[in-house]
Amino acid sequence: MIVLDGDAYQVRTDGKAYPVPDTRQTPFASVTYFDADSTADLPEDMDFAAFQTYLDSWLLSENLFYAVKIEGTFSYMKTRSVPGQSKPYPPLVEVTRQQPEFEFTEVTGTVVGFRCPPYASGVNVPGYHLHFLTDDGSAGGHLLDFRVSRATVSIDETAGFFMVLPGEGSDFYKIDLSQDRQAELEEAEK
Ligand SMILES: [Zn+2]
Repeated sequence: MIVLDGDAYQVRTDGKAYPVPDTRQTPFASVTYFDADSTADLPEDMDFAAFQTYLDSWLLSENLFYAVKIEGTFSYMKTRSVPGQSKPYPPLVEVTRQQPEFEFTEVTGTVVGFRCPPYASGVNVPGYHLHFLTDDGSAGGHLLDFRVSRATVSIDETAGFFMVLPGEGSDFYKIDLSQDRQAELEEAEK
């Protein structure tokens, strides 16, 4: 799912993005009101690994949350989607081993997501977790890699973290969450 300027999109296993109606529910979402604190142009040909090193070098602190937004044109973009699942739900790591992946070339759009601090593990994904949406809103997905053609990054330093848990009657009330799934999350989300 990608939420951009108040509109939500779901990227399905065909790689296309579909508008999400207000009535749809989701098991997990990280959202913010984006308010850019710093902006910079990214060098041409920068890939996702180099981007993370670059952005890490000008963060105020490793221990804050950061909302990240990159707008521009990418000579290469690789994303994935996760197929819908039914009960009994398998672990995410098993699902993402068969994830459909999508590649784009010379694509214009917006990357949005978060960089969470290491201590957020267990309730979110530590490090960078970004999603992409084309500028016409037709395609995108969970970002795996990119190469910049011309792009600008903005970050929003975020000193607050507010988490809402599912309501009474949810399966969440009964599920065993005592197991440490950090290693699985690392494989599933990177
Ligand atoms: Zn994702």
